[in-house]
Amino acid sequence: MMQIIVLTIFIAVTFYGCVSPKKNDGKIHVLATTGIIADILSNSLDSSFVVESLMGPGVDPHLYKASAKDVGLLSSADIIVYNGLHLEGKMTEILKKVGRHKMVIAVSDGIPESSLMSLAEDIHDPHIWFDISLYSKGLQHIYMTLNRHYPIQAKSSRNKYEKYLKKLNDMHVWTKQRIELIPAKQRILITAHDAFGYFGRAYGMRVVGLQGISTVAEFGIQDIMRLSALIKQYSIRSIFIESSVPKRSIESVMYNVQASGGSVCIGGQLFSDALDSKSKKAGTYLGMLESNVQTIVSSLK
Ligand SMILES: [Zn+2]
Repeated sequence: MMQIIVLTIFIAVTFYGCVSPKKNDGKIHVLATTGIIADILSNSLDSSFVVESLMGPGVDPHLYKASAKDVGLLSSADIIVYNGLHLEGKMTEILKKVGRHKMVIAVSDGIPESSLMSLAEDIHDPHIWFDISLYSKGLQHIYMTLNRHYPIQAKSSRNKYEKYLKKLNDMHVWTKQRIELIPAKQRILITAHDAFGYFGRAYGMRVVGLQGISTVAEFGIQDIMRLSALIKQYSIRSIFIESSVPKRSIESVMYNVQASGGSVCIGGQLFSDALDSKSKKAGTYLGMLESNVQTIVSSLK
């Protein structure tokens, strides 16, 4: 079965353009890798553009592999927008291949390297959407690139784009104000994986993840013990599960703390690397941010 899928992808890529022919509707077709990127673009671009997303609600981008159907979508789109910084770690090759034939833009290319959080030499934290001000720079980079290549369509979107930038700025200010409601020594955010580093830096929280920066890495008993000790040391009341990571990981920390006489509960579910389904509050980038902040503040305040 695996061989058939690999062969299908190979054929689709080799005979580039044979799958999903371009739609001749006069619109610019933008394909985003994640739902978060698709949402910020849908909110910034007018009907001259059609924005679609490869990954659906709740999908983990670290683990996502392009299917044969995705290859068709990638080939029929006019522009591909991805996060970069190895968030889409299993799509690196296919994005590189597609980039030889069409415009492929990384949101992270709009952010100066000095503003990125460094993990090791030449490796940066990819979860840039959790600093709203920083992510706005990524959106500006996408808009300016579109403006160079499609000036008429970008110009007709300008009002919508500027209104959305203002909303992002308002959310940035609101988030800062809400997090300040948590007493300083209780501003510790414990989650399933290290997705909230930028959030912590921008809004003043210490952030600790059970897994590393990517969900590809497994966690072990040492990680559970490390977090359990921290929870007891700071009398942390709540820890958080993530929508795109199995909840058993953070539950095992809770059980470990409780088994050794401590007390901690699950403060709720945070949306880290993927949006909720479209009809839900966290089905948009702004809705996801608001939902997370409300969950964090009500559990730690
Ligand atoms: Zn992540």
